[in-house]
Amino acid sequence: MSEQDYDTIIIGAGIGGLMTAAGLLHAGKRKILVLEKGTFIGGKYTEINHKGYKVTTGSWTSIGKSSHIGRFCEEVGANVEYITLRQMKKKGIGSGLFSKVRYTDGTEYSPTSTETTHFSEKEGEEMTTLLMGLAAKELKGIDRSKNVSVRQYGENFTKSEGIMGLLDSLIGTAACLNVDTMPTSEFRIIMEDGFRLAAARFGFPVGGVRGIIDALEKVIREKGGEIQTKCNVEKINIDNNRATGVELSDGKTINSKIVVHNAGPRRLLELGGRKNFPNELVKKIDNLIPVEAAAIILGLNKPISKDIPLILTPDCERIVGIFEPTFFGDEAGVAPPGKTMIDLFCPIKTQNIKKEVDLAIEDIQNLYPGILDKSNLDFQQNMIFYKNTPAAESGQTFNQTGDDRIDPKTPVNNLYFVGFDAHGSGVAGDLIPIGVRKALDYILKTEKWLKVAI
Ligand SMILES: Cc1cc2nc3c(=O)[nH]c(=O)nc-3n(C[C@H](O)[C@H](O)[C@H](O)COP(=O)(O)OP(=O)(O)OC[C@H]3O[C@@H](n4cnc5c(N)ncnc54)[C@H](O)[C@@H]3O)c2cc1C
Repeated sequence: MSEQDYDTIIIGAGIGGLMTAAGLLHAGKRKILVLEKGTFIGGKYTEINHKGYKVTTGSWTSIGKSSHIGRFCEEVGANVEYITLRQMKKKGIGSGLFSKVRYTDGTEYSPTSTETTHFSEKEGEEMTTLLMGLAAKELKGIDRSKNVSVRQYGENFTKSEGIMGLLDSLIGTAACLNVDTMPTSEFRIIMEDGFRLAAARFGFPVGGVRGIIDALEKVIREKGGEIQTKCNVEKINIDNNRATGVELSDGKTINSKIVVHNAGPRRLLELGGRKNFPNELVKKIDNLIPVEAAAIILGLNKPISKDIPLILTPDCERIVGIFEPTFFGDEAGVAPPGKTMIDLFCPIKTQNIKKEVDLAIEDIQNLYPGILDKSNLDFQQNMIFYKNTPAAESGQTFNQTGDDRIDPKTPVNNLYFVGFDAHGSGVAGDLIPIGVRKALDYILKTEKWLKVAI
């Protein structure tokens, strides 16, 4: 290809890359090319077909139309249809609530219930005060900064390990961390976004999270952007501290004014060449603490719960939460009619993966005896995310939250970084649009994109 083939090349068609492409095109930019090494787009934020089910590649769900992703999509004209809890309740399905708690002895309670068999009245009060303290604007004498763990903060209110266990399952489900590894400041944002955006107005995208990817793809293609799959970028060309394009593994060079990297921080060093980045950034990326998790997906003949999509499981060995996308009915379009699909979310605690999966399987059998009987189980798919693989994401732990994540403007001119590991805080993938907005402000030399998010 010749000089200046494209205005912008985006490496990686994950949700971060696709949102960036849609944002640039929406702002009037043209000649945008997204290069994806895989055979499908969406990265860890989509579903692939398996036995008539749509099985997630990572993300369980978006948190609805009011989420950061939901609002970004609306802004750039990507139309996503959601099925809300309210609509389900109107149909007589569920109570309109998002989650409940279940223990291995089979007892359950909903968060609004005044009765729990597992907490004393005193613990109930302590939990309420703890959560209210989290939400309060100011709290004299209690530190809720990014240097304080959720356990340290929580111990101002309670000594109950039962409450810590419940917080663990909540944090594990939202961010795959626990009360000792999550900073209070980040937990506050997750809870605020969770309650403000999800609890009251939660909506499941029709077609699963792939519904969001499809909508972004449509905008990109309609506005003349290009997306090419099976294109592995092997190198980011950098000349005189300026990105000038990319080289593909088939030897082809594509030139562009701007390069946006959406393929993880370790690959940024790999593709850009470690020597092209300052030591400080290289060291920061090398030392990132990754998220380690297993997602076990089960296709079942019978539903596990008819009243709620998310179940927190505080007393399990490995499972911290279970999401049931098929709660949203056949219209959700993620399973063959009448079938059930559930995702078991399990933080990994050792490097013995077989043991980790076995413990999770034991958990689900304790929670729902008979669930894995031959007559009920359609399929089981284990997905493991661990170690320092290039795709491993940095956990929302100390020194890795908000502004401490990687800034979208890299030290190399015209090279930007987007995706989960970039600047941002909040509930899982829903933090990605914050970094994308910051990248758009940098690239377009505006100050409006990030402002809208806050
Ligand atoms: C188990 C699990 C559960 C999760 N659950 C949720 C959830 O319920 N809700 C939520 O909001 N978030 C969830 N997340 C987080 C969310 O899925 C991810 O943060 C998000 O999908 C990451 O998007 P991304 O664009 O940063 O990167 P990715 O999705 O990783 O996209 C990067 C893309 O770059 C491509 N690529 C890599 N190298 C190259 C190369 N050399 N050339 C070209 N292309 C390349 C990859 O193939 C990939 O498609 C979950 C994550 C995990 C792991």
